[in-house]
Amino acid sequence: MPLTDTHCHLHLYEDPDAVARRSEGRGMGIVSLPTGPDEFATVRDLAARVPFVHAGAGLVPQRARECLGRLDEVVDAVRATRWVGEIGLDGVTDDAEDRAAQRAVFDRLVAVAAERGDAVLSVHSRRAEADVIDRVGQGFPGTVILHWFSGGPRWLDRVGPCVWFSVNPAMAASNRSRPFLEALPRERVLLESDGPFVHHGDRPAEPSDLHTVVEALRRIWSLSTRDAMAQLVSNEARALAPGRRDGAP
Ligand SMILES: [Zn+2]
Repeated sequence: MPLTDTHCHLHLYEDPDAVARRSEGRGMGIVSLPTGPDEFATVRDLAARVPFVHAGAGLVPQRARECLGRLDEVVDAVRATRWVGEIGLDGVTDDAEDRAAQRAVFDRLVAVAAERGDAVLSVHSRRAEADVIDRVGQGFPGTVILHWFSGGPRWLDRVGPCVWFSVNPAMAASNRSRPFLEALPRERVLLESDGPFVHHGDRPAEPSDLHTVVEALRRIWSLSTRDAMAQLVSNEARALAPGRRDGAP
């Protein structure tokens, strides 16, 4: 597959196999990320059935407290894959216990993922940019993808060479995201659908919709579609290659 949807919840679509087929038709590989341990088996099942789907393992911050009792299970699953997500911190809650659970889960999973040296983290950081960047933004041994980053251009100077940013159809269509996408160095950009949570028109976005993101990026970069694709393919080769340890772009 020439390009990859680095953040998709394939197993949560009504018909994951149809979504996977359309994705394959567009030449798009998929990293399918669970939101918590109850989804691990379904995600692994799909990846075993569809050759260009990678199975992730993680626990979203919004479910950290609810799933604390199953953290060992999440740790074991993270240890068994390069694709770690969805993980992160979410600052929307002001509940102290929720925040403590989020930090405990995130720190533990990041530490486990760091052991292998070539893990690819897909990280949620809504209203928690400073916290997330302090924890993984400078020197993580592997790849950190800040997914649907909404913090704006001022954070770009604070991240190290291990950090990439994945762009989805909602970001590509949003005027609010525009200054960030314009400031984002093009060699740090990857693709994501975040489907089925993100919408494309009146239906859930799919990996096969990511050509619309390529088109938006191409315009921002003033490149032909072919050159924009080549840029993204080269970004993926650096960000997602197995065995990378130095975090250098
Ligand atoms: Zn997501």
